[in-house]
Amino acid sequence: MKILKGDTVKILIGKDKGREGLIVKTMPKKDKVVIKGLNLYKKHIKPSQGKPGSIVEKERAMTVSKVGLICPNCKKIIRVAYQIDKSGEKSRICRKCKTILNNLTIKK
Ligand SMILES: [Zn+2]
Repeated sequence: MKILKGDTVKILIGKDKGREGLIVKTMPKKDKVVIKGLNLYKKHIKPSQGKPGSIVEKERAMTVSKVGLICPNCKKIIRVAYQIDKSGEKSRICRKCKTILNNLTIKK
């Protein structure tokens, strides 16, 4: 997946279309991402052991194709390119401005 934890993305489709948020979790096998505070759903918690029931809002994972990666430099939705430096380290770069995006979970 080209989107990693810590990236800022914009939602392209759905009720939160146009909103931006930070990726807090990626699920590469399912092609899904969780965006902080976005695509919320209400989860009903049943009363149990003397505690009253309640409703909490939780982030629902989104299909990665429904979000666009935002370059921290361009501030626009961009396409990712890859570059490999002399030490063999792979980096994601913005195809427009060549800024290196964070590489928190990319391994050599
Ligand atoms: Zn850029």
